[in-house]
Amino acid sequence: MNPVYFSARFESSSALVSQCPEATREVAFAGRSNAGKSSAINTLTRNGKLARTSRTPGRTQLINHFTLGEGRFLVDLPGYGYAQVSKARQGAWKRAMTEYLVSREPLAGLVVVMDIRHPLQPVDWQLLEIQQLSDAPLHVLLTKSDKIGRSEGLRVVRRVSDELAAEGVEATLQDFSSLKARGVADAHSVLDHWLFDRPLPTE
Ligand code: GDP
Repeated sequence: MNPVYFSARFESSSALVSQCPEATREVAFAGRSNAGKSSAINTLTRNGKLARTSRTPGRTQLINHFTLGEGRFLVDLPGYGYAQVSKARQGAWKRAMTEYLVSREPLAGLVVVMDIRHPLQPVDWQLLEIQQLSDAPLHVLLTKSDKIGRSEGLRVVRRVSDELAAEGVEATLQDFSSLKARGVADAHSVLDHWLFDRPLPTE
């Protein structure tokens, strides 16, 4: 276990990539609103207050950096897929995501958080299309796994994996639960690999 994640602290909120802090490496988290992204970040850092969990849609459209020290960061990207969002706002989100994912040099990987009961919604595919333009590897966190049975969860992981592969999207996947702190070690291994070059545990 790498305790570095438990020391994560808020660093900055940026509207533009040019305002983001200087970094060695960072891992970004993206997800449809209400998918459980903030809860996942809080669970991985054991800090219930780090990323703000909220039901209020569209509040933060900023790139939030959390420092782990020595130039390493976890990054909370703006949520997407809010109901009743204007076309203009949607366009702005897409431009901001493209700018971030394509041009952010220290980006070492992208974690896309999806509700295990509603994976791969059309807006998720929009994000994955943008991710495909970047060099950042992809890890899919299928969260709220406590809401469904264990075997059903594994079935969803396999199905999502197959659907991504069918579209030529390379990704690693796992189930996760913030409520039960399930899947934390697996997620930490991916972060360790991307941020600190630690080898992934062999399966
Ligand atoms: P975000 O909009 O993606 O940041 O989503 P939040 O982290 O704010 O979570 C949205 C809602 O789902 C909140 O009511 C959370 O309490 C709930 N939630 C998040 N993760 C889990 C989980 O693993 N299990 C369960 N049962 N609920 C969760």
